Amino acid sequence: MKIDIVTIFPAMVTAALAEGIVGRAVASGVIDLRVHDLRDFTTDRRHVVDDMPFGGGPGMVLKPEPLFAAVDQIREERGIPSAVILTSPDGERLTHAVAARLSALDHLVILCGRYEGVDERVREHLATEAISIGDYVLSGGELPALVMVDALARQIPGVVGDAASVAGDTFARDGLLDFPQYTRPAEFRGHGVPAVLLSGHHAEIEKWRRQQALERTRKHRPDLLKDS
Ligand code: SAH
Repeated sequence: MKIDIVTIFPAMVTAALAEGIVGRAVASGVIDLRVHDLRDFTTDRRHVVDDMPFGGGPGMVLKPEPLFAAVDQIREERGIPSAVILTSPDGERLTHAVAARLSALDHLVILCGRYEGVDERVREHLATEAISIGDYVLSGGELPALVMVDALARQIPGVVGDAASVAGDTFARDGLLDFPQYTRPAEFRGHGVPAVLLSGHHAEIEKWRRQQALERTRKHRPDLLKDS
């Protein structure tokens, strides 16, 4: 899968995507990642990417030209992307289902906004969709891009070593929350672990985990049960 990220802070994105499970997927070529510095697509000597908003008001707005030029070059060098995603707090909310949908695409371009936002013509005529990672405002699209790439990378077969681990994750297994996990020691500061987990009865353990997942979902996220 090809992923191109356009940002004014390439180091921030590159560093985070070099670690852990996603880092391994990039190193092994499962994810063909390129991070582009938006300033490389400016034509003035000072590499200006922002300007004042028409109509007045506080802050600056990312100019359309460098973003369009970046996507033009990506198209030329890397082919026509399957989706051009604008990170935006008013976009479609990122969920497990959205991450799974994106993970099946061949080529994603992710545009990271900054300042007061991005010239609306980018959204209307360049982006094919806008995605939000939640109802709060961040200072830029870099963290949303990282969250998106991490969540979707886990859904690409082979990225997480044990496929059963991804299939059993919260939201993935029948839309339920995950069951509680314990590890050694069996007794810690006076707190034990549920006896069934030490019993060696696989069918009983499976039943208990299923019950726990259901109970937790009912208690903490009843909306997930209503949706299904
Ligand atoms: N003035 C804008 C916020 C701009 S924040 C507003 O009120 O909607 C600057 C940039 O950060 C945005 O252009 C977007 O790219 C990114 N961003 C901020 N919060 C985000 C979120 N919850 N999800 C995705 N992107 C976000």
